[in-house]
Amino acid sequence: MGERTPAQTTASEHVRVPDSHRRTIAVDGSAASGKSTIGRRLAEQLGYAFLDTGVMYRAVTHAALERGLSLGNSAAIGELAQTLPIDVSLDCGGSGTRVTIDGSDVTSHLRSQPVEDAVSIVSRIAAVRDALVSRQRQFAERQPIVMAGRDIGTVVLPDADLKLYLDASIEERARRRYADFLAAGNEVSQEIVLEDIRRRDRIDSEREVSPLRPADDAVIINTDGLSLDQVMDRVNSLVRGDE
Ligand code: C5P
Repeated sequence: MGERTPAQTTASEHVRVPDSHRRTIAVDGSAASGKSTIGRRLAEQLGYAFLDTGVMYRAVTHAALERGLSLGNSAAIGELAQTLPIDVSLDCGGSGTRVTIDGSDVTSHLRSQPVEDAVSIVSRIAAVRDALVSRQRQFAERQPIVMAGRDIGTVVLPDADLKLYLDASIEERARRRYADFLAAGNEVSQEIVLEDIRRRDRIDSEREVSPLRPADDAVIINTDGLSLDQVMDRVNSLVRGDE
């Protein structure tokens, strides 16, 4: 990796970066593994854009539910994903990813329980993945980027400069997600959070198209027992090329 050269643009300028200067970092991992927190911090430090690809799958799921589409109707949901005017404003300088559909901001709906319950089912549909993956690649062509998801290192950006795969025990991940819910003022039981993570991990890893798995050249970081700062120290040393 290394320092940005003067010839490079900052992420917020949204200027096309010549191929020779492209910088891409993939951060994959299971549900609640810390991908977004780590990815967003890393992007801020490097002055790169950050894209949490999960919000795109959530946006399609929200739109499908709003339209009353049956989750079994893969053809209709696939077509919706191909045509839906989703606009994702990239997270630059910690501004937060915002998602609009047809001009209306849906960001606050993306973590609702109905979306949480349905998103892994929608994400199994090949046509949905095709539509979203091509948009994700377009983002990476335009600026240096840290992208978080399940298939970034394996499918979306197989040539990423650095691939990280974050993991932690299900108990640790459920504890963290439960604390996030409490901090956000949401009432939910710890068992339900754990069961939801278990269910999503199973569907995400067992699906036929782009299952959740580390790329062969990914660095796997198990974050059990590590603080956010400790994980960032490790990530930074990988970015610097120290290990
Ligand atoms: O990361 P997040 O929990 O928001 O992702 C929600 C769901 O979206 C995942 O459980 C997975 O089914 C799907 N997803 C995916 N591929 C990605 C990102 C998310 O299949 N790159």
